[in-house]
Amino acid sequence: MSWTAPFDIVNPTGKAGIVIVCDHASNAVPQAIGDLGVAPQDMQRHIAWDIGATPIARRLAEAFDAPAILCGTSRLVIDCNRKLDDPTLIPLTSDGTVIPGNAGLTPAQRRHRIDAYFTTYHDACRRVVAERLAKAERPLFLSIHSMTDRMNGGGHRPWEISLSSNEDRRATDPVLVALRRMPDLVVGDNEPYDMDPRADYSTPEHALAHGLDYLQVEFRQDRVAAAEGQERFAMILARAIRDSGILR
Ligand SMILES: [Zn+2]
Repeated sequence: MSWTAPFDIVNPTGKAGIVIVCDHASNAVPQAIGDLGVAPQDMQRHIAWDIGATPIARRLAEAFDAPAILCGTSRLVIDCNRKLDDPTLIPLTSDGTVIPGNAGLTPAQRRHRIDAYFTTYHDACRRVVAERLAKAERPLFLSIHSMTDRMNGGGHRPWEISLSSNEDRRATDPVLVALRRMPDLVVGDNEPYDMDPRADYSTPEHALAHGLDYLQVEFRQDRVAAAEGQERFAMILARAIRDSGILR
């Protein structure tokens, strides 16, 4: 996909007590960055974006009447769910693929990536959350990701949907209960990833900092690569959220 903007906001005036974000929504590289030196077929892989995550985020925005903020820039340009001092913020390699265009950046080039893409996207997330806090609303922060079924040569990941959390599990625990009641669904709890405030950026910044409930969700990409799976898994999550009773 070609790059158009640092972010897109779907349904900005949505009335639900939910704010959806998708940090890895896009595999687009801005014209100003030029060529990362990554083969076109590799730009379609999970290393460049979260496959299937954008349609799921859009579907949930529609189902709940919630706003969704979609990042517009590939994680290979800058990873919007990493802290600014994280060595993988602008990755030199990802899952075995070298990113030549990320080597030897000047301080000005690095600053441009942070200011133009990372900060602009997160400022949009901050605005949407702040508008709701200003109305004394306490939205659920819903962070949508997808994961590959195999990473760095590791074993097969059995989890079709997984919730990543830290010790604050106010929303995670009831939604896990609801997910586990569904037949024929392999559910992960902090597998393969937990939500680590020292490594993750979005949930700590936009939810934990305000004491908001959050859900950080990983869908396995082979389940959500096509439209049918995107619809099915978006509705699985929507139903689990509704059944859990966490929405006020
Ligand atoms: Zn992701």
